[in-house]
Amino acid sequence: RGLWGIENLSLIPGKAGAAPVQNIGAYGREAKDVIERVEMYCVESGSMLTLDAAHCEFGYRESVFKHALKGRVVITAVEIALTRTPQPHLGYGDVEREVEARGGATLRNIREAIIAIRRTKLPDTAELGNAGSFFKNPVVDQPVAERLKTEWPDMPLYPAQEPGKAKLAAGWLIDKAGMKGYREGRVGVHERQALVLVNLGGATGSEVIALARKVQTAVRDRFGVEIDTEVNIL
Ligand SMILES: Cc1cc2nc3c(=O)[nH]c(=O)nc-3n(C[C@H](O)[C@H](O)[C@H](O)COP(=O)(O)OP(=O)(O)OC[C@H]3O[C@@H](n4cnc5c(N)ncnc54)[C@H](O)[C@@H]3O)c2cc1C
Repeated sequence: RGLWGIENLSLIPGKAGAAPVQNIGAYGREAKDVIERVEMYCVESGSMLTLDAAHCEFGYRESVFKHALKGRVVITAVEIALTRTPQPHLGYGDVEREVEARGGATLRNIREAIIAIRRTKLPDTAELGNAGSFFKNPVVDQPVAERLKTEWPDMPLYPAQEPGKAKLAAGWLIDKAGMKGYREGRVGVHERQALVLVNLGGATGSEVIALARKVQTAVRDRFGVEIDTEVNIL
């Protein structure tokens, strides 16, 4: 319909109600950029509640629904504001190059470019069980980032939303900690995308969690950095 705002989130699997829970995001855009308010059923009081975006405590893969409201509400509607004014956001990874290769920044070209990039990077859940990125990119104090950058000059470093902090690439840290492509029984770290844990067939949740802990330990031992899970573990 020619409405701009969520094209960069193309091909993120999941239902609308889950989108605000971890403030889904990709390629420089997040659900919080368009969400106006979230409607929910409150389990304890049995009443309906509406929360403006300002009260949803959105952050990097974070929201009030993963903390104070965890398990206490069922999201029933998400109101988003889109725009007819073109607002391309191409400054992340290969997006601009892929969009140009398709003839420029139209909504359709951006969506197709994002889908194409994602298909080369992420395993298809229909073929290989996975939850997408299992870990969040760690946000560390600037001096810690600088110390690591001196030691590892090729380490990717991104600005963080919080002042005095920097964001590291969890995938790079996992790779350099020797865990990319690592397999243990029926679970493994994807060989092309170290952020993704894969179920090679029949693995249980406990096996996936045990592998996640092993990856976290490997990164901590190598870099002294904690990587938190993006996946919401109960
Ligand atoms: C291949 C792949 C790629 C992915 N890529 C991305 C990505 O690029 N960016 C990104 O942010 N995520 C990504 N994800 C993660 C996932 O797509 C999102 O987290 C999505 O929002 C999950 O939707 P779901 O409906 O499957 O929710 P579920 O996984 O079923 O639920 C997620 C959490 O939200 C809670 N929840 C779900 N629905 C509601 C509701 N209505 N009310 C209250 N709580 C609720 C659940 O209890 C659970 O804690 C990816 C996943 C896969 C498998």
